[in-house]
Amino acid sequence: MNSFTDKSANKLKEALGSHRIVHLDLKGAVPKVSYFSQLFPFIRKLGGTGILIEYEDTFPYLSADIAGGHAYSKNDIEEILRYANESQLTVIPLIQTFGHLEFALKLETYKHLRESKKYPQAICPSKNESLKFLYNMIDEVIDLHKGIEYLHIGCDEVYQLGLCQDCQTKLLAESWSPQELFLDHLSRMAKYIKQKYPSVNVLVWDDELRNIPLEVLTTWKLGHIVEPVVWKYTGDVEADLHEGIWRKYTKLFPRMWFATAFKGAKSPDAITNSISLYLENHRSWVKLIKKYSQTLKFQGGILTGWQRYDHFAVLCELLPVSIPSLAVNLIYLGSDSKSDLVELTSIAQTMCRCDSNPVLTLNNYLVHCVFPGSRLFHAISHLSQVFEQIDILKKSSPYKGWLTLYNRNHSFSAPSHVEEASNELVSLYSDVLSLERDIEEAMDSIYKADTFVEWSSTYIQPVKDELRAVVQARDRLLAVDSWPKRPLE
Ligand SMILES: [Zn+2]
Repeated sequence: MNSFTDKSANKLKEALGSHRIVHLDLKGAVPKVSYFSQLFPFIRKLGGTGILIEYEDTFPYLSADIAGGHAYSKNDIEEILRYANESQLTVIPLIQTFGHLEFALKLETYKHLRESKKYPQAICPSKNESLKFLYNMIDEVIDLHKGIEYLHIGCDEVYQLGLCQDCQTKLLAESWSPQELFLDHLSRMAKYIKQKYPSVNVLVWDDELRNIPLEVLTTWKLGHIVEPVVWKYTGDVEADLHEGIWRKYTKLFPRMWFATAFKGAKSPDAITNSISLYLENHRSWVKLIKKYSQTLKFQGGILTGWQRYDHFAVLCELLPVSIPSLAVNLIYLGSDSKSDLVELTSIAQTMCRCDSNPVLTLNNYLVHCVFPGSRLFHAISHLSQVFEQIDILKKSSPYKGWLTLYNRNHSFSAPSHVEEASNELVSLYSDVLSLERDIEEAMDSIYKADTFVEWSSTYIQPVKDELRAVVQARDRLLAVDSWPKRPLE
């Protein structure tokens, strides 16, 4: 390597920052505490330096009745923190303090704090009770996480802003735009934390700041109180995060973070991960940071792993299913981001103890690995492949021509075509039943029972119902050996 490329590699390394934080989204599929004892050392081994824990309704709040039935106990959290500490992982708790408060605002008890009656998404920032509610949450979380260096206060996707009577009055009195109302609430939250807990640095998602003009942002002096986490999960982050945003942010914020995704950003109902898709997102981030490495410097990256698109959505890619993706991307970011694909993915293959390359192998279900939760990874990959085969058969000519609802309702079809259309479906039906048992067992070592119940009712039950109906129709259709004249009754 010549001195020029050496210098630019160093510049990039510096711009990327040293933190590699893994996001644990506990909005769904809440792991048993014991799973973290295996996961955390593995994250460390892969080069992770910390975890961002988004508790949502799994934190044992006492100041408000908002904890879910599956919430951790105080002891559980202490145990989780001990595991993190043993693996030398920095812990950053995340509390939503503006939008995405569905878990609280959906409840009868707190619906009066909604910004819009109809939508339990954003809290009203102009009610004293809202502030008290949020301050209490902050105090409780910090109290259980003594000595933390960072707290993330969310504030992304505030879909309802400045709509209620209280906010309208405030906007009028202050001559504010809704954007200024947003900044006022954000800085109020950050100042509360900075004054009460001076050693805590406040992180915030950046999306609501992107379109606010520099002059407006400057007035609120946000640079001294928050560190934006600039997030984008697409394969071409530069398309959305244009130069103007960076010019603005570098003027305002001495400290910034970038956020990628290793799962949960593909489709709200995805059951398997697409490693290459998420790797593309990471590569695209590195390309952007390289381009601006003369002026930009991040504290580090947060690799987000969404478990639901929001509180009301179904479960998407589960964490164990996405471990190979996490591995590939952590290794990528840790390798000065310069390794070629084959080299990089073969390191991930070794780390995840896979018998073939998890990125270069076309079908995930063919890859066998040994990592925390790998049994579930295999079972769900296999199930997904069975689902694909079912879809192909449902598009086949015998299925479309001889096994329709019309055929079934009139017990009227050609036996040879019925057999052809359904023989394989009968065997796939039994595959689904046996994989369901595998998945239940694999989930049992990672999650409490509610995760399996939800996941199987979302993804397995509808397929089972459909196939059972096909199998029953097949039996009925094949039991007939003479048919009525047309037209049919
Ligand atoms: Zn309001």
